[in-house]
Amino acid sequence: MAPVRIAVVGLGKIARDQHLPAIAANPAFTLVATVSREGDGVPGVPHFQSLDQLLERGPAIDAAALCTPPQVRHELAAMALARGTHLFLEKPPGATLAEVAALQGMAQASGATLFASWHSRFAAGVAPARSWLAGRRIDRVQITWREDVRVWHPGQAWIWEPGGLGVFDPGINALSIATHILPQRFFLKSAVLEFPANRAAPIAADMHFCDTHGAPIHMDLDWRQTGPQTWDIVVETDAGRLTLSNGGAVLALPDRTERDEDREYAGLYAHFAALIRSGQCDVDVTPLQLVADAFLCGRRREVEAFED
Ligand code: NAP
Repeated sequence: MAPVRIAVVGLGKIARDQHLPAIAANPAFTLVATVSREGDGVPGVPHFQSLDQLLERGPAIDAAALCTPPQVRHELAAMALARGTHLFLEKPPGATLAEVAALQGMAQASGATLFASWHSRFAAGVAPARSWLAGRRIDRVQITWREDVRVWHPGQAWIWEPGGLGVFDPGINALSIATHILPQRFFLKSAVLEFPANRAAPIAADMHFCDTHGAPIHMDLDWRQTGPQTWDIVVETDAGRLTLSNGGAVLALPDRTERDEDREYAGLYAHFAALIRSGQCDVDVTPLQLVADAFLCGRRREVEAFED
């Protein structure tokens, strides 16, 4: 089968750090174009300032990876799907749930593959954690996702704007893991969101969920953590404790600890290729639903202004 001709749209941090190397390493794909308003793209690859320009006068593409901020993703996705282009959406899949549902309808109508990716689900410890938890009784869960926004998101103005999610930008990664590994669905009971006085998105959140069997799930998100960073999920079960740390890379079970190299984006692109080959879509909005519910029902508290 000929390689899928793919364009990368939005040449920012994640596109350069992960998408370009993962595409280069996967023979199922060939990079045929890049799109970004700034810069010249990648040496030897045709570059366009906008997706319109690429679609009008660029090389033919079969697929596109949309790596822009979520607020501008729907318009680009709709433009590509209207031409039957297979789409890889960076997380979160959109700024609203309804726009993602609209994209699903378009993908169905055009026969294109729509992949709403959750990269953290491809971290090394996640699949074995899901298998180990299947069928177990969950007693309680603690999710702690504390990082330094100045280290991970320097100068990213969009992340503080409506639809940028603030601390839920990393927090949704934790929720993408939790919704994948826990055997029962869970839902929000209460939340407190802390908004800096000068920002439109939260810098911290404290949330209580409950699963359908009554197990409490507490989530502590904070972007003000300096020093060691924390991306941990601890699950207490009838068979002992499971701890996923380093964002899902390290899995500790009662009798052993497993750690593996980072293969998240290699796994994502292998999955995207398989979806295209089999004519399927993969869109799970559950993590975005939980975040939307926090904005819907959470108490809002104003805290000290934040400057980059
Ligand atoms: P970023 O560094 O700010 O890059 C986003 C790129 O999108 C920019 O370089 C920009 O390129 C383009 N863009 C198009 N329209 C834009 C607009 N209106 N405002 C700002 N940029 C615009 O962001 P990122 O960290 O790569 O994140 C992009 C997406 O990937 C987000 O949804 C994020 O959650 C997700 N993600 C990020 C990471 C990470 O570690 N950073 C990890 C996984 C997933 P031009 O200005 O050249 O058009």
